Amino acid sequence: MKKLFAIFGDPVSHSRSPIMHNMVFRNLNYDACYTRVHLKDGSKLRDTFLSMKLDGANITVPYKEEAFRACDEIRGFANTAGVVNTIINENGRLIGYNTDADGFIVSIDEFKDIEKVLIIGAGGTAKALALKFMEEDVKTYVLNRSEGNLAFFKDKVTETFTWNGFKSYKFNLVVNTTSAGLSDECLPAPIDILEDIFKNSSYAADAIYGKTTPFIKMAQNYNLLCKDGSDMLLGQGVLASQLFIDKVFDIKTIYKEMKKSFVL
Ligand code: NDP
Repeated sequence: MKKLFAIFGDPVSHSRSPIMHNMVFRNLNYDACYTRVHLKDGSKLRDTFLSMKLDGANITVPYKEEAFRACDEIRGFANTAGVVNTIINENGRLIGYNTDADGFIVSIDEFKDIEKVLIIGAGGTAKALALKFMEEDVKTYVLNRSEGNLAFFKDKVTETFTWNGFKSYKFNLVVNTTSAGLSDECLPAPIDILEDIFKNSSYAADAIYGKTTPFIKMAQNYNLLCKDGSDMLLGQGVLASQLFIDKVFDIKTIYKEMKKSFVL
């Protein structure tokens, strides 16, 4: 029987997930279809998933924490992160996974010898990435414009700062996980702080995709090797697809087919 998958979010019209997953299903002759659901009320996630008889789903902003609560069982890194971006229907039980963090790690494969990473931002994406880097024994620093969201990180990462108390180290990699630059031309931190950071870093990555953000433009001016969020998007999508098609195809085959959707 044809399988049905969806992405839940608000907004969700911009999401590239349907095109990415449908490309894999079509090219590999896997009998499935992937749609999008604009969900206005996160508390309806579970009921909507079940009433649509979905086989699986991805969850995007702002429902990743709600998705964690909606599941019957959480597996793997999602337990550490407390955030779910992929749900699989296993005989009526909702199983939650997180493929964002591993997707990001795969996407920065060409960035070598990372010992110290600076994450700018302290939202959901920052949490998943910071905990993953700590799990991988990378010294992890978090810089955020306000104190409130930093509380989560205090006893979990190497050091946290607001703009006022920032101390620069020689970070190998700096990652922008804020939404600064998404729909404006803002930098994620004051320019003098970023100058200090970029002078001492080798690599920069942005979670934002589909445009060259002011953060990436500035990093390029300092000759850092840079990457926008497309590879992260592809990385998390490949790992989610592997769960959707229940490992019928290997990861390289899925990667090759899903990557084709990025030229569309
Ligand atoms: P959240 O809303 O959870 O967190 C946003 C963070 O950005 C907060 O720490 C906030 O600071 C900070 N921030 C917002 N605006 C500014 C600004 N103008 N200057 C400085 N800091 C700012 O968002 P998410 O973590 O869910 O998503 C963050 C970004 O990552 C989004 O742009 C999203 O599109 C992208 N993303 C990309 C993915 C991919 O696959 N490529 C996957 C997931 C997310 P404060 O705490 O002070 O409010």
